[in-house]
Amino acid sequence: MKKIAILGITGSIGISAVNVVRQHPNDFEIVLASSNNNYSKLFELAVEFNIPELVITNSALEQKITDIPKNSDLNFGEDELQRRIGSVECDIILNAISGSAGLRSSITTISKGTDLALANKESLIMAGHKIMKMLKHSETNLIPVDSEHSAILQAIGNSTPEEIRSIIITASGGPFRDLPLNEFENITLEDTLKHPTWDMGAKITIDSATMMNKGLEVIEAHWLFHKSYNDIKAVIHPQSIIHSFVEFVDGSILAQLGFPTMQIPILYALTHPKHIKSTIQKTNILDLPNLNFRELSIERYPLFEIAVNAGIQGGILPTILNASNEAAIDLFLDKKICFRYISRIVEKQISKFHNFQNPSIEEIIQINKDVYTQTKQNYKNLI
Ligand code: NDP
Ligand code: MG
Repeated sequence: MKKIAILGITGSIGISAVNVVRQHPNDFEIVLASSNNNYSKLFELAVEFNIPELVITNSALEQKITDIPKNSDLNFGEDELQRRIGSVECDIILNAISGSAGLRSSITTISKGTDLALANKESLIMAGHKIMKMLKHSETNLIPVDSEHSAILQAIGNSTPEEIRSIIITASGGPFRDLPLNEFENITLEDTLKHPTWDMGAKITIDSATMMNKGLEVIEAHWLFHKSYNDIKAVIHPQSIIHSFVEFVDGSILAQLGFPTMQIPILYALTHPKHIKSTIQKTNILDLPNLNFRELSIERYPLFEIAVNAGIQGGILPTILNASNEAAIDLFLDKKICFRYISRIVEKQISKFHNFQNPSIEEIIQINKDVYTQTKQNYKNLI
């Protein structure tokens, strides 16, 4: 029985993880869970799984909440979440918090030396250089939850980076992969939130439509698999059956495939390096649609190139990329800007800031906050 903590248990990945636990009651026990606002769902899960420790990161809710599950210890605030991560006895922590808010929890987990199942890709985008350095001196195994990176990890197996010629990340292309470019002006929020193959939280669904998500995944792969940006490519694969490829130096290519459900990569991250018996999803090869691949168009997805370039330049630039993107997405969700302006805002913000190398975690957190706030306040001058 593995003791697990699920941070962001009320989100899309969090609920998929809960479904994994429901199907494997003898393999996993949830010992700590967090949400930001959604306390009713958190409490419902606390009762179902008898979760002893809960944290609600939005401390403003402390005054409002009265009816607490009787077998759980409830705490409030971001600092308290870090304290609980530090003190909880568990085998693995699943970081399924969305956006830059997940960074501190990754750092605390690695400082503590507990294994980290990482869904929160933003941690690596902002602080990949620090996280990789910390991992060298920590007992933490970092296992990616992102389906593409789970696929790459499985395909690489025990091979060394020198045996790998390139990594090819697949992308569904999102809801607008076939939309004529002259119709991009009319894209609505509702259109953007309808992903063709994956059911995910709002931020990553919008990132998939702009292909920022694929740019972030290239940066994530660079850190996780120690390959240079020249050796990481992305291709459109509309069916989302092949989750990525690894090309070896002898010309051989390995891929991992399966029906698109996040429950499989979540389960694998929790059981790595073993595959355990599960009935989560069986993929019948004979039922698969025809699989096809096409090039990713930069004209259609300018944010992909902007993101990869920020990754190549490194330093504080990926934090600026991430913060301005999070702000632009929130503006789009509030219907203050149109779809096209997301990339325009990010591009303008990136060109304005001076890059510097090797930022500290404190600098990353502060600059992320400043750029986010400044982008939201100043957006009218950026469009
Ligand atoms: P959701 O928006 O569905 O869920 C986010 C979770 O984080 C919720 O539990 C939410 O709590 C909590 N949260 C939100 N803001 C904060 C905050 N400021 N502090 C602490 N907790 C917070 O996101 P997803 O599940 O879609 O994504 C989670 C992460 O996984 C992201 O980094 C994403 O890129 C990555 N990922 C997601 C995939 C997917 O299929 N969804 C696939 C691959 C990667 P509350 O509910 O109370 O607001
Ligand atoms: Mg992914």
